[in-house]
Parts: sequence; structure tokens; C-alpha cells
Amino acid sequence: MENCLFCKIAAGQIPSKIVYQDEDVVAFEDINPQAPHHVLIIPRRHIASMPDLTLEDGPVLARIFMTAAKLAHDMGIDESGYRFVTNVGPDAGQSVFHLHFHLLGGRRLGWPPG
Ligand code: AMP
Ligand code: ZN
Repeated sequence: MENCLFCKIAAGQIPSKIVYQDEDVVAFEDINPQAPHHVLIIPRRHIASMPDLTLEDGPVLARIFMTAAKLAHDMGIDESGYRFVTNVGPDAGQSVFHLHFHLLGGRRLGWPPG
């Protein structure tokens, strides 16, 4: 997808701090971290947002969630806890239209979110 920031990050055309990648998934540090640990996990393939998912995306979604659990373990926040979320639409503050999940941890996270 042309002119998609996260497609360009996945392709290595825009620099980012990649913490994990494989053929389906890329994980990189958020440029504006909201917690001591803040990583974004994306499918390499362009999917604009959650409502665009289909059953065929099941395996890549499983890989995204498994990657989050492994990274949380590697970052040492699996026991203290973490949050794994995706924002959809304006009220949630979605600003990038390539599906991404935020992995946040390393501090107490309020609930419900503000
Ligand atoms: P959202 O608001 O849920 O769409 O999340 C988009 C996230 O992308 C925000 O947390 C931004 O800080 C982050 N972001 C924007 N540009 C970059 C970039 N070039 N590298 C890493 N993270 C970015
Ligand atoms: Zn994209």
C-alpha cells in the first residue's frame, strides 16, 4: 500500500526500532511511548483496521498475539502485567490506518482508559 507509514516501516523504508520481525509480523517501539514499555505490533500485509479483518487473517492474528506474549516475557513485564489494545476510529484516537496493536507495560495502567 503506497503512502502507508507502517507499510514503509515494515519494508524498512522508514527507520524504526524493530524489536521482532518474521514473514508475517513486525514489532517496533512506539515513537511516542505512553509507558516504560510501548511496542506496536503489526501484520506485514496492509490491513487498514479491525473491521477489515476476515477469517483468513486468523493465523496472522494468532501470531501477533503470541508475539505480544513473548515480547512481554522478554521485557520482563509478563508477571507485573501489561495491556494489549487496538484503537478503532476517532473516539479511540486511531491515527494510523494500518492495523496495529499497542503493547504497553512497566507502570500501573488505569482502567477504564481516559
Ligand atoms: P493509534 O493512535 O492507535 O493509531 O496509534 C498510532 C501510534 O503510532 C501512536 O502511538 C504513535 O506514537 C505511533 N507512531 C506514529 N509514527 C510512528 C513512527 N514513525 N514510528 C513508531 N511509532 C509511530
Ligand atoms: Zn500499510
